[in-house]
Amino acid sequence: MRPIQMVDTKSQYLSIKTEIDSAIHAVLDSAAYINGKPVQEFATGLSSYLNVKHTIPCANGTDALQIAMMALGLQPGDEVITPSFTYIATTEVVALLKLTPVFVEVDPKTFCIDPDAIRKAITPKTKAIVPVHLYGHAAPMEEIMQIADEFGLYVIEDNAQAIGCEYTFADGTRKKTGTIGTIGATSFYPSKNLGAFGDGGALFTNDDALAHKMKMIANHGQQKRYFHEIVGCNSRLDTIQASILNIKLCHLDNYNAARQKVAAFYNKAFAHQPNITTPYVATYSNHVYHQYTVLLEGVNRDDLHTYLAEHAVPSMIYYPVPGHRQEMFASFDMTRYHLDITDWLTERVISLPVHTEMDDEQLAHITGKVLNYLNK
Ligand SMILES: *Cc1c(COP(=O)(O)O)cnc(C)c1O
Repeated sequence: MRPIQMVDTKSQYLSIKTEIDSAIHAVLDSAAYINGKPVQEFATGLSSYLNVKHTIPCANGTDALQIAMMALGLQPGDEVITPSFTYIATTEVVALLKLTPVFVEVDPKTFCIDPDAIRKAITPKTKAIVPVHLYGHAAPMEEIMQIADEFGLYVIEDNAQAIGCEYTFADGTRKKTGTIGTIGATSFYPSKNLGAFGDGGALFTNDDALAHKMKMIANHGQQKRYFHEIVGCNSRLDTIQASILNIKLCHLDNYNAARQKVAAFYNKAFAHQPNITTPYVATYSNHVYHQYTVLLEGVNRDDLHTYLAEHAVPSMIYYPVPGHRQEMFASFDMTRYHLDITDWLTERVISLPVHTEMDDEQLAHITGKVLNYLNK
């Protein structure tokens, strides 16, 4: 059996090595390492894939979130509602910009932000909602957009884990996640569903003025070189990464389908195991399984994690500490939060390997070991 890894970017690279190597060499030959042609090609290609008007490439997903909040003109003290059950980047940028993160609960089934909890958290200071399409499943965007309309709030979708995921509205309209809110932000970190061979990120919007502003912010606040109109930052997707992403974008649907196949294998194997709840898929969303995360009940999760590691099966806890319990936010008086669902999930989730290069032998080994442990 080939060794099992949480992600296997190497094997994925080998499957498209010829294309990738020649794309990288073309960049080396052109010497246009920054803002070379592949960057604009990628932005155009991704806009058309997502069916969104503007894609603004940037250096990473965390920058994308930061640039989005800067472009919306959020001011110190403004409140931003986000789930606590997410990766730190979502909320870290809120604090970095001296905005106030307001942590709310998630739905225990989808692991995504709960619209009722958003409503309860709104105050006169609330300016934005940042839903996260966690693990590759969409947050309930239709309800979130209704709330945003009602209260005049911006919506920044953290789409770092769900590129290619599709949302279906009640009237049957379909949109890709990241293109529904005011702005969408994503990451091309190597392990993401669309991963570069280094850092990368992008912003999406259908709003011309916002697109213009985000482009400027990502480029030192200038539209004309050396004339800096607003305070920005330096956040670029480099040409080599863009040339790699151009190729991988053509494979993205196949990559997501491969992840769905892995998930289907797991789902089937665990279907009759009462201690495991397999990932829920709401009628409004498909699932692109950035992670395959199950919920364990009546099981010593950390002991299972160790047992699996001893049997050549990697697994991960995403995430071991929720936002409202992170020391970095101590100055925001986190003691006022009682997020029971978030804490409950944090103690019970475990993520199994899911990537595009898994074979049935590996999957049978993983499910066999999990079931062995649970049936012990
Ligand atoms: C990966 C990730 C980010 C940050 O992306 P980087 O490119 O690593 O900066 C933000 N939010 C979520 C939910 C992520 O998973």
